[in-house]
Amino acid sequence: MKKSILEVKNLKKYFPVVGGVFSKPIAWVKAVDDVSFNIFEGETFSLVGESGSGKTTTGKTILKLIEPTAGQIIAEDIDITNYSASEMRPLRRDMQIIFQDPYGSLNPRLPVGEIIREPLVVHRVGNKKEQEERVVEAMQVVGLRPEYLRRYPHEFSGGQRQRVGIARAIVLNPKFIVADEPVSALDASIQSQVLNLLMDLQQKLSLTYLFVAHNLAVVRHVSDRIGVMYLGKLMEIADTMELFNNPLHPYTQALLSAIPIPDPEIKKERIILEGDIPSPINPPSGCVFRTRCIYAQDICAEKMPQLVDIGSGHFTACHFVKKGGKTEFTKKS
Ligand code: SF4
Repeated sequence: MKKSILEVKNLKKYFPVVGGVFSKPIAWVKAVDDVSFNIFEGETFSLVGESGSGKTTTGKTILKLIEPTAGQIIAEDIDITNYSASEMRPLRRDMQIIFQDPYGSLNPRLPVGEIIREPLVVHRVGNKKEQEERVVEAMQVVGLRPEYLRRYPHEFSGGQRQRVGIARAIVLNPKFIVADEPVSALDASIQSQVLNLLMDLQQKLSLTYLFVAHNLAVVRHVSDRIGVMYLGKLMEIADTMELFNNPLHPYTQALLSAIPIPDPEIKKERIILEGDIPSPINPPSGCVFRTRCIYAQDICAEKMPQLVDIGSGHFTACHFVKKGGKTEFTKKS
């Protein structure tokens, strides 16, 4: 049986919108709204959705880089939801993050050797000589030449800078890494190199990943399971093959229909999502996707669909997807 390394239960993260003379909250941005899922040891679980879907906030809240509003975060059977910064400190060695922007996340005034060494200093791992040896090792593992350790971030290409970010994330030998859009700022030609590196490291270092991305095509080849988010909620979770072969939620179907197929013989109908993603300050009643869903009916405005297992670990939140994966969609008139 697969071991759950991380469990998220009914997680919420609301950000206040302040106003008035006393700068008091006048509304709340519901960035993450009642999200539950597990991540199993050794897998890559990806969260995918448009910008504003809450996927990055979910990743950062799990690591407690931002505090949750409600819900539970359980890491290896320990409930860390209310852990203080000092209680989190020993766990941080095992839980690292790779940021989206490989330039913005690296201190431009430090040589990369010092940037990669920083987590070892913060966690007081080894003496200076041992730390430097680990930095060299981490650089070699990510494909950077150790003689570059005295160079500054601006002297590297985008792909190399992301390798520096990955070296910094692995230098403490963590178990779990949140990879927050790790390739979206890179050229297409470099993206696959960095994705391949992340997959190699997963094998070599027995890592578990939470991968955050806005593009389903990017995560297809690296994910074991995928969760699709929309406006702070999970719409669908399934094994990668199952999600691509049998998408059941209308939002997932629309996202998949937008991925180009390289074979001109194969024709597929593109589902165009109308309008923009609504404001998370005032999300639609009932199903949050209803304002853009081609199948929305009256019940969709009245009742919020729950994320339910319709069989074999395939979860969907839609009133018209039944047990066993049977769908009862009617195009709205
Ligand atoms: Fe569309 Fe209704 Fe299903 Fe939501 S519940 S995805 S609005 S059909």
